[in-house]
Amino acid sequence: MSAEVQCPAGCGLMNYKTKRNMKIRVFDPLGYAMMIVGIPFIAAPDNLPFEFFTSNLIVNGGIGVGLLLLGARRASLVTTDLRCNTCNGVILESKSIDQKLKGDLLGLSENKAEYIRTALSSSTEESEHACPDCGEKMRHIRVPIEDGEHRSNPIAPDIVEDIQNLTTVSRTVEIDGCKGCDMLWFKKAKWEKLLSKDSTIILKK
Ligand SMILES: [Zn+2]
Ligand SMILES: [Zn+2]
Repeated sequence: MSAEVQCPAGCGLMNYKTKRNMKIRVFDPLGYAMMIVGIPFIAAPDNLPFEFFTSNLIVNGGIGVGLLLLGARRASLVTTDLRCNTCNGVILESKSIDQKLKGDLLGLSENKAEYIRTALSSSTEESEHACPDCGEKMRHIRVPIEDGEHRSNPIAPDIVEDIQNLTTVSRTVEIDGCKGCDMLWFKKAKWEKLLSKDSTIILKK
């Protein structure tokens, strides 16, 4: 794609925004190590399984929280996406689709990219907008998803989640896209955020 991309809704130029996605895990060995080391500090701050210079509960608890937060931050995905400041729409280009929706190497999160690309190429519903890159009409798809995120989940991992125990919310995310240019347009930024989260799964028919 060219450096300058027009908003499909006709607002004008879109801007590249680099963002850290805390809800999307990437494999970062040091990040995971920090989270793992942080857990005993929180779980048993007065009885650490190793020698530590202080046995102060508050200090140790604080160190644990700090390690978890830093680890979770390291092991989260950073992407650069196009955002329209006027209508708040978001474009995911090919690279971002792979990064955000393809799942991870360990197979802990679903490959949503494949489903969406297939749905897009078989969709016969025309979008109301044209692709900002090639000028062809985009296609429209509706993706039924389930957001299975815990209400509160202080000990970070999406890693240890048990799908059965989650409170789930079903909804539909609407996407326009151009299969030729491999690009997706989300009229609402929150739809993109929702779809990209590791805890969101697509409800396949
Ligand atoms: Zn716009
Ligand atoms: Zn196109």
